[in-house]
Amino acid sequence: MAKLSIRDLDLKDKTLFIRVDFNVPLSADGKEISSDKRIRASLPTIQYALEHCAGVILASHLGRPKGKPRPEMSLRPVAARLSELLGRPVTMAPDCIGAETGKLRPAPGSVLLLENLRFHKEEEENDPEFSKQLASLADVYVNDAFGSAHRAHASTVGMVSYMPLAAAGLLMDREIEWMTKATRNPERPCVALLGGAKVSDKIEVIQNLIKVVDTLLIGGAMAYTFMRAKNEATGKSLVEEDKIELARELLASVGEKIMLPVDHVVVREIKPGAPNEVVTTIAADQIGVDIGPQTVEAYSAVIQAARTIIWNGPMGIFEMPPFDKGTVALAKAVANADAVSVVGGGDSEKAIKTAGVSDKITHVSTGGGASLEFLSGLDLPGVVALTDKSAAAT
Ligand code: AMP
Repeated sequence: MAKLSIRDLDLKDKTLFIRVDFNVPLSADGKEISSDKRIRASLPTIQYALEHCAGVILASHLGRPKGKPRPEMSLRPVAARLSELLGRPVTMAPDCIGAETGKLRPAPGSVLLLENLRFHKEEEENDPEFSKQLASLADVYVNDAFGSAHRAHASTVGMVSYMPLAAAGLLMDREIEWMTKATRNPERPCVALLGGAKVSDKIEVIQNLIKVVDTLLIGGAMAYTFMRAKNEATGKSLVEEDKIELARELLASVGEKIMLPVDHVVVREIKPGAPNEVVTTIAADQIGVDIGPQTVEAYSAVIQAARTIIWNGPMGIFEMPPFDKGTVALAKAVANADAVSVVGGGDSEKAIKTAGVSDKITHVSTGGGASLEFLSGLDLPGVVALTDKSAAAT
């Protein structure tokens, strides 16, 4: 169902409530922002609203203050950074609700940043009274926080029922568009590349994607649980014993779609600079830490022929070079393919950066948990809550 976008709204002289994801990493004292990536990601939506003469109220959570005001989790440093990036003042509200905050309603072209939503426990409880108070601040609701869309909280779901319209911001719109294209009606061949530490973290993703994709390429430690299900030797590699049976069932039902590594980079001890070798059969005292060159070649060939590629999770312990080789090689293969490529998860994103191919990926998702839930086939409450285009037209 297509959702209303900020582009569909008449914003002139309206007060816009934009739920953004300003959950930025801060220094221990809460004074310095270590990465402003998330602030930058919402700039197009904020600028769009300002250019169209709206007064902008921004709301976000930051960290886990557990329902109490915590000065070190204040959004104040974000207001300062945002003001620099926008080149205009950003007023910091003392709270996210209440009479004082209500009085600060921004004039067209001005920006007000509310204080951390999670200073109130009612935010995560999706409390109706709190939702109503948030809704009373503005005329129109926009959600640009894809990273929080898998949570049914007051600012992502609750307050929507008290607003006339709820639209997706530009970032949210892009997330929904590409994630939907890749997983709901992909151009074929469609390939998923899944890696990471555990099968258990991604069971739902595997079970859903296997219905969608033509081929599922498995790497990372996840592969060893599947190999054990085929009675292949895995030595001392990371295996989830209690998931072997599930892997066996998957191989029995849809095994023809699943590809597993055919060679491995192994060590005897996981540590930087550990002597390593490439093997096709893992010996009893060896630990698999990356996919081997033949696997890279085989997976790259499948990726090269794909028209849609979905990628989540590294192929090895990529944070410990040279065990990032397989992941980086496949990042390059994904980038070079003539395909729609959608990447989720912080590790895969880092690999893309290391490979220097960020600009060749169609879409890198900003939401780790949210993108995994989307790939699992779940409807995200924060997306469901947005007004359907068809409903807005009537
Ligand atoms: P995930 O968060 O599930 O995507 O898992 C990412 C983590 O998986 C990274 O920290 C990797 O180091 C880890 N990982 C990938 N391959 C292996 C492996 N062969 N052995 C142990 N850990 C691995």
